[in-house]
Amino acid sequence: MQPMSNSDCIFCSIVAGKIPCIRIFEDDAVLAFLDIGPISDGHTLVIPKAHFRRLHQCSADVLVSVSNCIGRIVQAVVSAVDAEAYNVLCNNGTAAGQLVEHVHFHIIPRNSGDGVFDRWPAYKYQDGQAEEIAARIREKL
Ligand code: 5GP
Ligand code: ZN
Repeated sequence: MQPMSNSDCIFCSIVAGKIPCIRIFEDDAVLAFLDIGPISDGHTLVIPKAHFRRLHQCSADVLVSVSNCIGRIVQAVVSAVDAEAYNVLCNNGTAAGQLVEHVHFHIIPRNSGDGVFDRWPAYKYQDGQAEEIAARIREKL
């Protein structure tokens, strides 16, 4: 069981109003605010108010609450900054770039040639490797 809030967590402090934020949207379960270090204009963070470190630790009702509002928030952000496109990103774990250990979804407005995420390091599987990895994943479900 995760705590509802964590006194060491910067995003819990934002939810509690102890640290200011530029608020975009709020309901009982979700808060959205501008990222303090944007990588594009309008870069927004959507967080559950309850403290969960990782996506897979969130309860189903928390994920439903985020799902219920994130599309509306995305649409408003993208429209407000007149962006062509957007990324929704959820970093989980230090190796994946998660710095704040309270689950959050980045909404990143995008435009052609903006230089954000210039490199997507795609490669090809060896013969049979994809099937073998998929079988290993299915065993874990
Ligand atoms: P992560 O790397 O954990 O996925 O992203 C954390 C994000 O939180 C970063 O983009 C960072 O700029 C943002 N951030 C960290 N501290 C604060 C804060 O106090 N206020 C706001 N608005 N954003 C923050
Ligand atoms: Zn927290």
